[in-house]
Amino acid sequence: MSILPIRLYGDPVLRTRAAELDEVDRRARRLMNNMTDTMKEAPGIGLAAPQVGILKRIIVWENDQDRGALANPVILEREGSVEGEEGCLSMPGITYPVVRSEWVLVQGVDDSGDTVKFETRDLTARIIQHEIDHLDGILFIDHLPPELRSEALGVLRELAETWEQQEVAR
Ligand code: ZN
Repeated sequence: MSILPIRLYGDPVLRTRAAELDEVDRRARRLMNNMTDTMKEAPGIGLAAPQVGILKRIIVWENDQDRGALANPVILEREGSVEGEEGCLSMPGITYPVVRSEWVLVQGVDDSGDTVKFETRDLTARIIQHEIDHLDGILFIDHLPPELRSEALGVLRELAETWEQQEVAR
């Protein structure tokens, strides 16, 4: 089991598009496992590879209802719209309400290398949408209305100073 360092807001890797995987090989599977360990240790309920500095299209998630790991995830269909509180392991200390699709049809490649297609709703649907955004360099604060977004950016600027102090102390 390996815990990977989580990249924080301000790191350019979080704003870069991640690349598709040709296949889920042993290396990709190991990364999925390490990402799952890192997510649980944090603790969090979802993680995308760019958050550990790897620009590959891989996401993992785990909550009371469901867990999974997917490479090259895409949303094929979506329905409904629901607001819910979100946070992000790359932006510790802030949460804001974000509007997401309530139901999604997702396709991707699982850790066995099989292409899978499934529908999900509510929390898992929210996590998957949040994590796929990360693969395109999109952060949850990008979905906030302008006023709330600038408030969030202000708070993040202050928080970032304490992160830097922790970096120095380490
Ligand atoms: Zn996130």
